[in-house]
Amino acid sequence: NHQKDEKKVISNKPHAVCLPFPAQGHINPMIKLAKLLHSKGFHITFVNTEYNHRRLLKSRGPDSLNGVPGFRFETITDGLPPAAAEDTTQDLPSLCDSTTKNCLAPFLALLRKLNSLDGSPPVSCVVSDTAMWFAIKAAREVGVPIFCLRTTNASCFFAYRNFPALIQKEILPLKDSTFLTNGYLESTLDWIPSLKNVRLRDLPTYTRTNDSNEMLDFIMTQVLEASKADALIFNTFDELERDVLADLSRTCPPIYTIGPLHSIINQLPQNSLKSIGGSLWKEDLESLKWLNSRAPNSVVYVNFGSITVLTPEQLVEFAWGLADSKKDFLWTLRPDAVKGDCNVNLPFEFYEETKERGLIVTWCPQEQVLNHPSIGTFLTHCGWNSMMESLASGVPMICWPFFADQHINCRFACAEWGVGLEIDSNVNRVDVANAVTELIDGEKGKQLKSDALIWKNKAADATTTSNGSSYLNIDKLVAEMLSRH
Ligand code: UDP
Repeated sequence: NHQKDEKKVISNKPHAVCLPFPAQGHINPMIKLAKLLHSKGFHITFVNTEYNHRRLLKSRGPDSLNGVPGFRFETITDGLPPAAAEDTTQDLPSLCDSTTKNCLAPFLALLRKLNSLDGSPPVSCVVSDTAMWFAIKAAREVGVPIFCLRTTNASCFFAYRNFPALIQKEILPLKDSTFLTNGYLESTLDWIPSLKNVRLRDLPTYTRTNDSNEMLDFIMTQVLEASKADALIFNTFDELERDVLADLSRTCPPIYTIGPLHSIINQLPQNSLKSIGGSLWKEDLESLKWLNSRAPNSVVYVNFGSITVLTPEQLVEFAWGLADSKKDFLWTLRPDAVKGDCNVNLPFEFYEETKERGLIVTWCPQEQVLNHPSIGTFLTHCGWNSMMESLASGVPMICWPFFADQHINCRFACAEWGVGLEIDSNVNRVDVANAVTELIDGEKGKQLKSDALIWKNKAADATTTSNGSSYLNIDKLVAEMLSRH
């Protein structure tokens, strides 16, 4: 009888199937959302691609997966041929194309399998990344609601939603390549009040063409398909993007802003969930020990995320800029962070000169690093997760956006939120050294730090107080999910 009762409890549980886009910056927020739902009583199936599943097993060990009751991992193919080398970031356009073309059938088959499994409750909702929009079709097919997580911020999403209008107004595509250099990209979207300070050059680099291209098509389809979801979830908070969110909510399904997600997760009491993580590279914990030996607010943390690939020239300019600043630095450099080079090669003289004050690691526990009192500034590529983590820690940023949403994130950080200083995309060592010195020692640095601390408090208010916007939205989102159960 006891066994029967237990089975009944399990089969009555809500069951969310969580499907991230298969890249680090998408897996991280999805795994946090999954943990959050688990803490609210959901049974979770987290779906990775086979390639990423193998990488997670390697970076975190077999115990990290399937060790928590009610939190299961499953895999589907990404449809790509095997990677030449394991542990390398997969090519993004190929992934976008391949997941769109190849993942619907295996995902649908998985949903059906989960529904027929003994000891697992029937699927009650799908939570997918907006970039995996085929999941909307799959959810409809099996008759469950679908909630889409958007891992960029709302401003970027709203800018993307305006692309058809930009095309209709003949603002895009560019008439010809002279428009790249004739000052045209400096014009702003001032006819969209909540994006009035966004310049054409803040839009993703994919728009800087005079014809259509696959990534642009992918983005436009993705944001339009998102309208078909039952609700949209953003890793941001109301205070940060109030105007854009108001505009967005007029044309979108219900929106739940529940960020910064990592701040929410850090408050969860369940220690058992700590074993579950999404880092595709092994985190170097020595970096935290090293930070302990440094003075408060003295270190520049350098990291360009999981996808950015530097040219050898950019690598050297960043390196000498850091050396010339004479400041302490912690630099995360993936083995595949430099074009055409599987080993990151820096000049011997650079290592000699900086050995007392610089530490280079492959991958670090970034959230903990940013929360460390020794960190004075973050030299970042402006990935949205990195920016949320930096804002929530009160760390001002030196911004070097690379691609996709990073330019618009940089624009908001520098022009609206007052927490960033942009350096030229054509990076040189003098700019790097000057920016680092300014952020650690200068007046501008003090101002940015003080604004960053204000945002830190606002982020904390949104997530920790019982009337915080993200805190309340989580309850509303869960209630909405349960009402459909
Ligand atoms: N990250 C990390 N350790 C590192 C570098 C990055 O844990 O050494 C994490 C970081 O905290 C963030 C994610 O990887 O959550 C990167 O996402 P982001 O959106 O910033 O950039 P992307 O990799 O998508 O370009």
